[in-house]
Amino acid sequence: MLDGKKKLRVKCMKCGKEWEKETLVSWGPDDFTSSLCNSCFREVISPIIHKKQLREGNFDCFGKAGDYCDQHQCKYREWCLRWEKAGEEIKKVAVAC
Ligand code: SF4
Ligand SMILES: [Zn+2]
Repeated sequence: MLDGKKKLRVKCMKCGKEWEKETLVSWGPDDFTSSLCNSCFREVISPIIHKKQLREGNFDCFGKAGDYCDQHQCKYREWCLRWEKAGEEIKKVAVAC
């Protein structure tokens, strides 16, 4: 079976952890892109968002809700809940290896 999905290596610029993401373009084995892994992303972004939330008169709840939050209007929602999903992806990749 032909698998049309192409993978690009991604390396965390903070801790050096590597994973793969699907892309539309073909990449060689030596190509990679820099990003932040889930835990580093959370580490870097949380204090910044917490400050913003407090300044806006809200709770500093960013990153503390796990994978469920009923505040659908929250402008940080995508980031806040993002790594739970990304974490599952990483688990899938780890199992496949
Ligand atoms: S989605 Fe928004 S309201 Fe919900 S926990 Fe995250 S930051 Fe807080
Ligand atoms: Zn990292």
